Amino acid sequence: MATNNYLQGTIVKALAGYYYVQPADPQAETVQCRARGIFKKRGVSPLVGDRVGYTLTDNGEGAVEEIAPRSSELIRPPVANIELAVLVFSVTEPELSFILLDKFLVHIEHAGLETAICLSKSDLAQTEGSAGDSAREALRRVRSVYEPMGYEVFETSSRHTEGCDQLRDKLSGRLSVFAGQSGVGKSSLLNALVPGLTLETNAISDRLGRGKHTTRHVELIDLGGRSFVADTPGFSQLDFAELGIEDLGYCFREMRELAPSCKFRGCTHVHEPACAVLQALAEGSVDAGRHANYVLFMEEMREKKRRY
Ligand code: GDP
Ligand code: ZN
Repeated sequence: MATNNYLQGTIVKALAGYYYVQPADPQAETVQCRARGIFKKRGVSPLVGDRVGYTLTDNGEGAVEEIAPRSSELIRPPVANIELAVLVFSVTEPELSFILLDKFLVHIEHAGLETAICLSKSDLAQTEGSAGDSAREALRRVRSVYEPMGYEVFETSSRHTEGCDQLRDKLSGRLSVFAGQSGVGKSSLLNALVPGLTLETNAISDRLGRGKHTTRHVELIDLGGRSFVADTPGFSQLDFAELGIEDLGYCFREMRELAPSCKFRGCTHVHEPACAVLQALAEGSVDAGRHANYVLFMEEMREKKRRY
């Protein structure tokens, strides 16, 4: 960036018109900054994750002077420069929703981010009974359907601190976002990953007799060594507002790969003759559950379009 001698840092929190900038030195305290009026004039607002140049002002605060070009920009949650999306799904409790997993994957393929699938509460796969059965089945399905497509899969147990080192290595040196339904164990996992971190978990808030407070703002957790994780409680409700129906096939990796072999350009892989995807589906090399979710999402998107 920059020709100027601005101080350099990363916005780690945005709240009530202030931007909290972490200086390049991870030991240093964050600087509470306002954004220069020029950004508003240009219709740009700083985002959490932005790498910025800032100056110190007389009142002990700072001012964001410039924003480095962004490598990515998520609208929901509003975070810039995310490189890796970690999709957290518990193997059971709550049961793994493959609809939600595929939805997340669509969104992430569309955003062009790297993805890791994290299967949390892996200790439950060692238990007897129906919970153990559903955990084992979820693991089997993810390993056999998603891993061969090139998605990296991690199994973690915060309870037994298992799989945490591997995941921590994956996060190293970049900005990641953790996404997943509430209750899958994201807070427990982050606490297990980051020494000294004490995010509130459901277990604690249940004991105190109040729901876990759901913050709306995004905050980056500093893991040191330029590794940051965005804690984004609101991220579980994704929709396809910015995604066109024609983009959907591209966001399913296996369909993207087969599409050039379909007879018709713009094939939707639902009813067309000589469709390579439908043929692979019949042969069992495209997973039936994935294709069913694809059709479901397409219907949802059509439905939504009709309503506007
Ligand atoms: P979040 O809503 O995704 O942040 O989930 P929490 O971290 O608050 O955890 C939700 C519930 O799952 C709590 O009751 C935790 O005790 C439980 N939990 C979290 N991690 C694990 C784990 O590794 N194994 C098991 N068995 N339970 C877990
Ligand atoms: Zn096709």
